[in-house]
Amino acid sequence: MSKIMEIEALDIESFPKGMISRAKITIVRDGMGAPVQVPLLVARGNKPGPVFGITAALHGNEINGIPVIHRIFQRLDPAQIRGTIVAVVVVNVPAYLRHERVYIDGRDLNRTMPGKPAGNVSEVYAHRILDRVVRHFNYLVDLHTASFGRVNSLYVRADIGHEETGRMARLLRPQIILHNPPNDATLRGAAAGMGIPAVTLEIGDPQRFQPEFIKRSRAGIRGVMAEFGVVPRRAVEPRESPIVCKSSKWMFTEAGGVLEVYPKVTERVDAGERIARLTNIFGDHRGDYLAPHDAVVIGKSVNPTGHTGARIAHLGLEAEEGWAP
Ligand SMILES: [Zn+2]
Repeated sequence: MSKIMEIEALDIESFPKGMISRAKITIVRDGMGAPVQVPLLVARGNKPGPVFGITAALHGNEINGIPVIHRIFQRLDPAQIRGTIVAVVVVNVPAYLRHERVYIDGRDLNRTMPGKPAGNVSEVYAHRILDRVVRHFNYLVDLHTASFGRVNSLYVRADIGHEETGRMARLLRPQIILHNPPNDATLRGAAAGMGIPAVTLEIGDPQRFQPEFIKRSRAGIRGVMAEFGVVPRRAVEPRESPIVCKSSKWMFTEAGGVLEVYPKVTERVDAGERIARLTNIFGDHRGDYLAPHDAVVIGKSVNPTGHTGARIAHLGLEAEEGWAP
């Protein structure tokens, strides 16, 4: 194992060619003056090529992406790499340590991008993640999962009207591709704003490892890297095509109570089909929630404590054959 480099900024040229390096990059300092360091894996090839970025745990409790990165790097042959692969194993280190989604000030870093160089604590952290690391990337795959109390399919959020991100989405071979032009406040949007084609891969559920999704994600990211010439092409096992959704919407409760959501993720539901049932705390039936249209369940709540306005299900509107954004 190579020794761990301690750095203040990502300078690709400072990493040795033809090997995998480990580094800790200081992003900010905490109230004790100690550095808050983000772990990086860097595989720099002998031949020139793009910088391919992978980020995980921007939300600290979304950790399926961590073993995806580990397995990608365990299987790399640095002698065959063109360019450089940079993985940020955990972006939001303080939240990861607290098993939480948000940064220490309660703010969501994926709603704070691109941050501010002289802003509040989360804005500075967001800014420096972009400035010290992400701006060096030529491509980005940002790894997430559902939030606490919810579950997701293996799905990609990407602008499929954009040539490169559309291609990345298909090569990831997820269960579902959701066409979703990026929001500026997300890491994906901030990267796109810097001219870096970026997609988000949602890998199942929070705070756990799901081996099947981890394996599929690793193979999918490898396929994307091969497409851009970073790693050699390899035959991939056949798999059914992803369901493509042209848009999506969350359904919310308009009353409070005990919530049960019936369909599984990736299941198709018909317009008018019962999706969820709400009972009051005494067990009396208070109402049913019906699918507003034919839909695919991209994600759903598994948290029975339903406040008024609780999320029920994330419903995708499936694209017709031949649809283009
Ligand atoms: Zn997330």
